[in-house]
Amino acid sequence: METGISNNKINTYDVARQQIEHAVEQLGLSDDVYERLKAPDRLVEAAIPVEMDNGEVRVFIGYRSQHNNVLGPYKGGIRFAPNVNADEVKALSIWMTFKCAIARVPFGGGKGAVACNPGEMSPKELERMSRKYIRKMVPVLGSKVDIPAPDLNTNAQVMAWMVDEYCNIQQYNDFGVITGKPLDVGGCVGRETATGRGLMYAVRAAAKVKGLALAGATVVLQGFGNVGSNAARSMSQQGSKIIGVTDIGGGVYNPKGIDVESLITYCRATGSVKGFPGCEAIDNKDIFALDCDIILPTAVENQITAAIAEHIKAGIIGEGANGPTTPAADQILKEKGVLVVPDILANSGGAIVSYFEWVQNNYSFYWPEAEIEKQLEQKIMEAFEHLYTYTCNCSDTITMREAAFMYAIKRLADAMKIRGW
Ligand code: GLU
Repeated sequence: METGISNNKINTYDVARQQIEHAVEQLGLSDDVYERLKAPDRLVEAAIPVEMDNGEVRVFIGYRSQHNNVLGPYKGGIRFAPNVNADEVKALSIWMTFKCAIARVPFGGGKGAVACNPGEMSPKELERMSRKYIRKMVPVLGSKVDIPAPDLNTNAQVMAWMVDEYCNIQQYNDFGVITGKPLDVGGCVGRETATGRGLMYAVRAAAKVKGLALAGATVVLQGFGNVGSNAARSMSQQGSKIIGVTDIGGGVYNPKGIDVESLITYCRATGSVKGFPGCEAIDNKDIFALDCDIILPTAVENQITAAIAEHIKAGIIGEGANGPTTPAADQILKEKGVLVVPDILANSGGAIVSYFEWVQNNYSFYWPEAEIEKQLEQKIMEAFEHLYTYTCNCSDTITMREAAFMYAIKRLADAMKIRGW
């Protein structure tokens, strides 16, 4: 399961809408494009009553936001998190639309959530909640309509319960309705590691344009769940030195480098990186100020604020999380010349391999791992090179994030126009 670090108060939906407005303006497109993209096509909010192990019934609130499907079915994960709300889900669904447009996978954007504390729930309670969520959302899902996947605090097991519930209701197997499934039920090799691995490819490409080799580069991570741990593993396989990691339980720092495999084993056993032997303790708020080459925020939204950005020494930030950098921080990082590889490019590996999974499900023909790896690398590299060139061609002062929004919005606007929307 992916771990999270608490959110602060910035409204991510406001941020997402500002990003769209700004890109539409920069592109010189009409207001209609903003009007069409500023809100999701549909937001479903449902009560999810769940029988708890003690016999009590608790009602959780579930969401599914479907932002835009001009390029293909709505696509995006489902998160389980205590403070998740409609605005957060709407913003995340907007970012999925742009992520898929940039990666050139034929999907739109969606996102789901249940407001709950999964850490306090038993596996049976989680299973009942996952199945109930699908029962409530079934009218708006489908392998050609809207395709969920894992996100924060959900994993392949949760997807297995969900796909099983969906197939039971339909009375036929349609594994392509959900991606990120276990291998036994139509999952795809390499899906679990895809976001972290894709992040490494994106960061490697960014390092290259900055004249930095990943071998020997120093890296810090905020978050050590699915994305963080797999990114750390992939970076260390490239010879990078992981010197600091924090998660919801605490943090560890060792300027000589941390052994990633031992840290993963330790974290699985104890539930946190906190107290990993041979390291100093470090606070979550101090991780970003460490002297290092690369920062990987791989937790949740709004972690790199303006105050934090002032102290950043790294030259590259690779956004493994969705929306980890606030707009005010972005401005400061731009002035400091930090290359921020934006989330909608940097963490697209999960969505890309989800696409491969969906294609294989539709054909009932499965590719070997080497093929998935090759295609993932190729897709991320193409997207990076394309966006980096687009950024440089736009103007000296534009950030890669601004270019990413412009590029995606142009694709969507063209498709909406030609479809007569
Ligand atoms: N939850 C992941 C994301 O935010 C993956 C989405 C997917 O595979 O559909 O990109």
